[in-house]
Amino acid sequence: MFKKVLIAGRGEIALRIHRACRDLGIRTVAVHSTADAQAMHVRLADETVCIGPPPARDSYLNVAAILSAAAITGADAIHPGIGFLAENADFAAAVEEHGFAFIGPAPEHIRLMGDKVRAKKEAARLGIPVVPGSPEAVRDAADARRAACEIGFPVLLKASAGGGGRGMKLAHDATELEQLLPLAQAEARAAFGDDSVYLERFLAGPRHVEVQVLGDGTGEVIHLGERDCSLQRAHQKLLEEAPSPALDAASRARVTGIAVSAMRELGYRSAGTLEFLYQDDAFYFIEMNTRLQVEHPVSELITGVDIVREQLEIAAGGALAHRQSDIRLDGHAIECRINAEHPEDFRPSPGRISDYHAPGGFGVRVDSGLYHGYQVPPFYDSLVAKLIVHGMTREDCLMRLRRALDEFAIGGIATTIPLHQRIVDDSEFRRGAYDINWLERFLARPAVAVP
Ligand code: ADP
Repeated sequence: MFKKVLIAGRGEIALRIHRACRDLGIRTVAVHSTADAQAMHVRLADETVCIGPPPARDSYLNVAAILSAAAITGADAIHPGIGFLAENADFAAAVEEHGFAFIGPAPEHIRLMGDKVRAKKEAARLGIPVVPGSPEAVRDAADARRAACEIGFPVLLKASAGGGGRGMKLAHDATELEQLLPLAQAEARAAFGDDSVYLERFLAGPRHVEVQVLGDGTGEVIHLGERDCSLQRAHQKLLEEAPSPALDAASRARVTGIAVSAMRELGYRSAGTLEFLYQDDAFYFIEMNTRLQVEHPVSELITGVDIVREQLEIAAGGALAHRQSDIRLDGHAIECRINAEHPEDFRPSPGRISDYHAPGGFGVRVDSGLYHGYQVPPFYDSLVAKLIVHGMTREDCLMRLRRALDEFAIGGIATTIPLHQRIVDDSEFRRGAYDINWLERFLARPAVAVP
């Protein structure tokens, strides 16, 4: 096993990774920007290296600074965290070329899945059903029109290099498609440095269901069940649960079976997630994330498997610690993303934490770097805490979640806790009757005060 791991991330996930390392007796190196000098994972790490000023491009995206920090501190492996360089194949390759282990997939698999057009093609080759769409990026309006006529309107324009739910556009007819194509291409170039855009059939009210896999790189692959991430705003997940209230044993076996056999054939290494839209009892692959995901703890709570520990073991050359037959899906888990945002209009709310009390008790987990007096910086993602709750049944889990949300006190900044309280009280949500558009409809309703 590694002796020292450099964590190339920040926030709650850097702390999460630090904890998994320490549980294995591994020393940690935190790299951080000047804005994060007082972050909890920096305070807890064995060694710290400041790699630059607050803007991520000058610090968390600075490959040379991160590799130098690893060399100076004598780290033997680098965990890329989530976001920043986590799905950058060139970074993964550079890490390995410089003699460090990369705690993640093979660079070629990151590259393959990072291009969503190539990823869908490869998925189809591996026997995974995909959302009908243009087989390639569309070149111009005529090309787009041809593809859209085959797919059928409405169509979604998506960036080939896309991520984070950004830049998707919906076209209802050919005229709208022609208007939106240059906009989508320009936005894709600005956001991702690549103007390739492809088309996909727009599904009206699907659920987002994703499968967590772990592979050892030699063809051994297991799954940890699925997560339902249909609760989204602007295509961004806000609450996730496992198992999905929409699946039964047969549909679960179908989607997990598809994911595992494809990943076996690919020889996938480390943790990964295959994302599907699920509608009318059919699954449609949309993309694969070749990294740890924010919502991974719900799978951990229902399986008892520490996914980051598995990533560390796999990167160190170990075999998978579990066989599929060892994995039991036990009870129900829900995660609430607590963002430093106003719960009504989602304006960012950075600032100093004037009061902090985290909930606890049976079945309650909080992943957060917050503490009394901490200053939430304005430069990064607004996620500041994750509340993850486990119960024997979904009903148990909901009761415990409501109780834990009521206990959670974060003073000095606005957070999404009041919104989660409203969601958990909603009868449709409690029945599990929601799709990817549900939250937008819910937010459009007049708010009833939470007692
Ligand atoms: P990103 O990589 O930007 O996160 P995804 O392809 O993963 O983009 O899609 C993000 C979300 O956008 C999905 O969870 C879903 O809510 C919505 N979405 C994506 N593709 C479609 C589609 N073809 N039809 C309807 N909604 C979609």
